[in-house]
Amino acid sequence: MSVNLRLTSTGLNFQEDPDAKIIFIHLTMYQFKKVIDLQHYITTLKSKGLTVGFAPTMGALHEGHLSLLRMAKAECDISVCSIFVNPTQFNDDSDLEKYPRTIPEDIAILTKIDTDIVFIPPVSEVYPPSLDTTLKLDFAELATVMEGAFRPGHFDGMAQVVNRLLDIVQPDKLYMGQKDYQQFAIVQNMLHQLDSDIKIVRCPIIREADGLAMSSRNVRLKSELRQQVPRIYQALLKVKEMAPHFPVQEIKDTFAESLDLPEFRLEYIEIADGETLQPVTNIEEHKSVVACVAVWAGDVRLIDNILF
Ligand code: AMP
Repeated sequence: MSVNLRLTSTGLNFQEDPDAKIIFIHLTMYQFKKVIDLQHYITTLKSKGLTVGFAPTMGALHEGHLSLLRMAKAECDISVCSIFVNPTQFNDDSDLEKYPRTIPEDIAILTKIDTDIVFIPPVSEVYPPSLDTTLKLDFAELATVMEGAFRPGHFDGMAQVVNRLLDIVQPDKLYMGQKDYQQFAIVQNMLHQLDSDIKIVRCPIIREADGLAMSSRNVRLKSELRQQVPRIYQALLKVKEMAPHFPVQEIKDTFAESLDLPEFRLEYIEIADGETLQPVTNIEEHKSVVACVAVWAGDVRLIDNILF
């Protein structure tokens, strides 16, 4: 039996060896619950000149999350994932309660893709009573449209937790998904307002084979609805196809008609400037345009978008 040993900055790894009887052992994903322990470890790594890439998540991990961590791993020395279901960004108590939590599976999958550090703090570590973590920034019209209009307070809570996690982790690069297009724009704006050196990287949307954008909430879809939800992406592709040739309202109407199904409820479709996120009337006048949608399938709220 043979295994390769690799001593890295984060510890000792047993590498896969074609001749080995032990196929895969990885011993060195560090798990932290406490801010002080994580900070101590990351400070040590950074003092050796290592770079840190960070992907904040709410867990129930899928390939979309893993794509961020793979990119972090490819571009930085150390990849860090946080798993924290942030109560301050939920404007609906039952959504918070029903949010899937799969910590043991998440840890297994992160270990498998060689993530270096996972941070799984309790609420009291992220929001200690002694610390004022409220963020006094104004995202102006970036935060009043689309998700901002339908989920009051959501972006304040989201920005608060991302800012707090960045303070804790002190990454060089922050990896976030295009899946949450408006969230990305707001965090980018936040870093700009804070004059931060952290580089934010937008990672493409990872989809199921049938086009459904991966989301932790997808597991809550009833099987009949699961069959139907790929229509959202199909309708978005149609939007993109129509974009240069048809008026915006006609494009939106076509999208709404294609999702006019029992148990589906379109919350919004917006065709917006890719940077300001304001609704556009003439697509050709804009450098980048994004169509963003939120759709209820039964009691599950799905969001998706397409850039053109
Ligand atoms: P969440 O756990 O839903 O808060 O998502 C954590 C991060 O993963 C965010 O930056 C999301 O935009 C990103 N993400 C979620 N789903 C996907 C996906 N299907 N493709 C790419 N990134 C995603």
